[in-house]
Amino acid sequence: MAPFIPEAKLLEIKDAASIADVIGQYIRLNQRGRYLVGLCPFHAEKTPSFTVYPERNIFHCFGCGAGGNVFTFLMQHLRLTFPEAVAELAQKYGIPLQWKKEISPAQGQLSRQRQTFYEVNELAAKFFESKLAHLQQGESARQYLARRGLPESVAKAYRVGYAPDDWRLLVRALSDQRGNLEAALQLGLIAERTSGGHYDRFRGRVMFPIFDMQGRVIAFGGRVIGEGEPKYLNSPESQLYSKGRNLYGLYQAREAIRKQNIVILVEGYMDLLALRARGVEPVVATLGTALTREQVRLLKGYTSRVMLVFDADTAGLKAMQRSLPHFAGERLSARVLVLPAGEDPDSYAAKYGVEVFTSPWEQGQPLFAFILDQATLGLGDALEAKLAAFESLKPYFQGEVDSVERNLWLQMAAKRLGVPESALEASLKTYRQAALPTIVVRQQEEALNLEKRFIKLLLTYPEVLARFDLEEYLDQFVHPEMQTIAQYIHSCYQQVGYLDHSLLIMQIEEENICRRICSLALAAEEYQLENLESELADYTRSFQKIQLKREHQNLKEKMEHSYKTGKGGDYLALQAQLQDLRQRLKKLESTH
Ligand SMILES: [Zn+2]
Repeated sequence: MAPFIPEAKLLEIKDAASIADVIGQYIRLNQRGRYLVGLCPFHAEKTPSFTVYPERNIFHCFGCGAGGNVFTFLMQHLRLTFPEAVAELAQKYGIPLQWKKEISPAQGQLSRQRQTFYEVNELAAKFFESKLAHLQQGESARQYLARRGLPESVAKAYRVGYAPDDWRLLVRALSDQRGNLEAALQLGLIAERTSGGHYDRFRGRVMFPIFDMQGRVIAFGGRVIGEGEPKYLNSPESQLYSKGRNLYGLYQAREAIRKQNIVILVEGYMDLLALRARGVEPVVATLGTALTREQVRLLKGYTSRVMLVFDADTAGLKAMQRSLPHFAGERLSARVLVLPAGEDPDSYAAKYGVEVFTSPWEQGQPLFAFILDQATLGLGDALEAKLAAFESLKPYFQGEVDSVERNLWLQMAAKRLGVPESALEASLKTYRQAALPTIVVRQQEEALNLEKRFIKLLLTYPEVLARFDLEEYLDQFVHPEMQTIAQYIHSCYQQVGYLDHSLLIMQIEEENICRRICSLALAAEEYQLENLESELADYTRSFQKIQLKREHQNLKEKMEHSYKTGKGGDYLALQAQLQDLRQRLKKLESTH
C-alpha cells in the first residue's frame, strides 16, 4: 500500500534535504550565479543544460524539459515511487517517518477526508484480492482469469481481485475493520438500502483497482463473470477519481513507457492485461471514455509516441478520430492499429503473434492518415464527393497544429483526393477566416503572452498573491495549461498562505505541468522588484482589457445575428451595451 504522507512532514523533509546536496550526490554540479549546472541525467548532452535552482528547491533541464523538486528527481533518477523517494530522504536526513495517521491541523478537513477515502479503497482492494485467493469463493473468478490466459503474476501486479456474488460481504468486512462506511458509500463501493443499512455494490465481478501515480487505489472497475448487466460497473467520480484524468495501468507501466518511449493505448482492462501477460509492457487503457486532453497531457510526461489499438467495429473508432486535436495540440505523435472486426488484442496476438505489439510503431498508421482513409472510403471520382470529404477534414486543420505537421496532412489529403494542394490550401483559407476571425486569433495570442508573463511574475514574486486576487481572474485564462498552473498556484497559496515551489510541484500529478512550472520559474528573472506595484497594476488592467475585448467581440456577434435573423434580443439594447463597453475600454486604455 502506498502510505499517506502528511504535507507538514513532506515540507520538513524537503527543508532538510537541500536540492543541491541531493542532486549533487548523483551529478557533478558547478555554480553559475544563483544556479548550479551539470550534465543532464535524463538525456544525452555534451554541454550542461541541467539547472538546479537552490533558492526555489527545483531543477529544470533546458535541453529535454525535465524538471521538478527533490522528490521528483529521485523518482525519475532512481526510478522510485513517491513514498519510496520520501522514505529515502527521510532516512538519509534522520527525520522520523511514521506511516500511520499523523495529522496536523493545517492539513484541514479535505486532506483528512481524502486520507479516509484512500484507506477505505485500500481495505476494499485487499478484501477483493483475498476473495480471489479464497479457495471456494474465488474459484469462478480464477477460472475466468485462467480462461482468459491471465497468469497469477500479472493479476498480482495489477492487484486484480474478486467481489463475490453476495450482498453483504464487503459491508461486513469494512465494519469489522472499522472502515468508514460513509466514505465507502461516497466512493460507490457500497449503496444504501431504502430500509436502512448498506449493501455491496460490486457483486459477482472481477475487480480491477485503478491507481494514481503514487500507487494509491483511487477507484475500481468491475467486470461481471458470465452473463449479467451491466457488463462493466465502475466507481463513480469522487474526490480521488475522475475518469477523464486517469488512465488504467499507467502507474504500473510508467517505467516501461519512458524507457521504450512509446505507449500502447487499448480499450479495456482485459485487453491491457492480456498484452501484459504476453510480455508487452508499455500498455495503458482508457476507462471507457473518449480520450481527453488531460489524459493526453498525462501521457506526454512519459513519452512522445502514442499507439492507439482499436477493434474495427467499436464505437472507439469515432472516439479515436476525435482525439486527433488533443495529440496535435500537445505535439504528440499518434499512430493507429485497427484490429479486424471481432478481434481484441489478445485474440489477435494469438492468431498473428505478438510482434505487432512489441514493435508497434513501424506497423501503425499515422492517425491523420487513418482519418483520411475513413473520410475517403468508397469515394468515387466525382469532384463534389471529394470536396465534401475534404470539408469533413477541415476541422482537423483548425486547432493548434504544428505547421510542419499541417503541411504533411495537406500533402496527404491532396494526393489521396487527386486535387492540387494549392486548391485545398485556398479552400482552408476561406474556412479559417469564417471559423476564426483574425481579431480573435490576435486576442488569443495576446492573452497567451500575458498569461505566461503573469505566471512567471507569480512564480518569481509569489508575495504579489497577497495583493492580487488571482481567483477573480482564474476563469479568464485563455490558455488551458496556464489556467491549470494558475489554479494550482491559487489553491497552493490558499492552503498554506505562501507559495512554496516545491510544495506546489508535489501537488501536481501531470508531469508536464510540473516541468512547465519549473521552466517558467527559471526563465523568470526579468522583473525588477521596485516596479512590482506598477507591474501588478498593468496586469490587472491588461486582464480587464482582454476581458472587455472578448465581451465586445461576443456582443458584436450577437448584434450581427440579431440583425440578420431578427432574433436574439433587441438590437438597440445590444447597441447601447456595445457603446458602454467601448467607453469602458477607452477609459481603460487612456489610463495605460
Ligand atoms: Zn535533460
